[in-house]
Amino acid sequence: MVRMRLPELETKCWMCWGSGKIASEDHGGGMECPECGGVGWLPTADGRRLLDFVQRHLGIVEEGEDNETL
Ligand SMILES: [Zn+2]
Repeated sequence: MVRMRLPELETKCWMCWGSGKIASEDHGGGMECPECGGVGWLPTADGRRLLDFVQRHLGIVEEGEDNETL
Protein backbone atom coordinates (compact mmCIF):
# COMPACT_ATOMS: atom_id res chain seq x y z
CA MET A 1 0.00 0.00 0.00
CA VAL A 2 1.37 3.32 -1.05
CA ARG A 3 1.36 5.89 1.62
CA MET A 4 0.50 9.35 0.45
CA ARG A 5 2.55 12.07 1.97
CA LEU A 6 0.00 14.67 2.82
CA PRO A 7 0.60 17.76 4.83
CA GLU A 8 -0.72 17.67 8.32
CA LEU A 9 -4.43 18.21 7.93
CA GLU A 10 -5.56 18.07 11.48
CA THR A 11 -4.24 18.45 14.91
CA LYS A 12 -5.43 17.14 18.19
CA CYS A 13 -7.81 19.54 19.81
CA TRP A 14 -5.94 21.56 22.38
CA MET A 15 -9.01 21.82 24.55
CA CYS A 16 -10.06 18.19 24.88
CA TRP A 17 -6.89 16.49 23.66
CA GLY A 18 -8.68 14.37 21.09
CA SER A 19 -11.40 13.03 23.34
CA GLY A 20 -14.10 15.31 21.96
CA LYS A 21 -15.36 15.88 25.43
CA ILE A 22 -14.28 18.09 28.21
CA ALA A 23 -14.86 17.61 31.86
CA SER A 24 -17.40 20.03 33.16
CA GLU A 25 -18.27 20.48 36.75
CA ASP A 26 -21.46 22.26 35.76
CA HIS A 27 -22.78 19.25 33.89
CA GLY A 28 -21.48 16.70 36.32
CA GLY A 29 -19.55 14.91 33.64
CA GLY A 30 -18.27 15.24 30.13
CA MET A 31 -19.80 17.65 27.71
CA GLU A 32 -19.14 18.07 24.03
CA CYS A 33 -16.04 20.08 23.44
CA PRO A 34 -17.06 23.50 22.11
CA GLU A 35 -13.77 23.97 20.34
CA CYS A 36 -13.91 20.96 18.03
CA GLY A 37 -17.62 20.17 18.29
CA GLY A 38 -16.96 16.75 19.74
CA VAL A 39 -14.70 15.65 16.93
CA GLY A 40 -11.57 15.76 18.99
CA TRP A 41 -9.47 17.09 16.16
CA LEU A 42 -9.11 20.49 14.62
CA PRO A 43 -8.17 21.14 11.01
CA THR A 44 -4.88 22.84 10.40
CA ALA A 45 -4.48 25.59 7.80
CA ASP A 46 -3.86 22.87 5.23
CA GLY A 47 -6.82 20.92 6.53
CA ARG A 48 -9.05 23.95 6.17
CA ARG A 49 -7.90 24.38 2.60
CA LEU A 50 -8.74 20.76 1.90
CA LEU A 51 -12.13 21.09 3.53
CA ASP A 52 -12.78 24.18 1.49
CA PHE A 53 -11.68 22.34 -1.63
CA VAL A 54 -13.92 19.35 -0.92
CA GLN A 55 -16.90 21.49 -0.06
CA ARG A 56 -16.48 23.57 -3.19
CA HIS A 57 -16.17 20.62 -5.51
CA LEU A 58 -18.80 18.47 -3.89
CA GLY A 59 -21.20 21.34 -3.57
CA ILE A 60 -21.43 20.99 0.14
CA VAL A 61 -22.73 24.10 1.74
CA GLU A 62 -22.35 24.54 5.42
CA GLU A 63 -25.51 24.83 7.39
CA GLY A 64 -26.36 28.29 8.46
CA GLU A 65 -25.32 29.93 5.22
CA ASP A 66 -27.73 31.92 3.16
CA ASN A 67 -30.23 29.81 1.29
CA GLU A 68 -29.96 31.86 -1.84
CA THR A 69 -30.46 28.85 -4.08
CA LEU A 70 -33.85 28.06 -2.62
ZN1 LIG B 1 -12.02 19.48 21.43
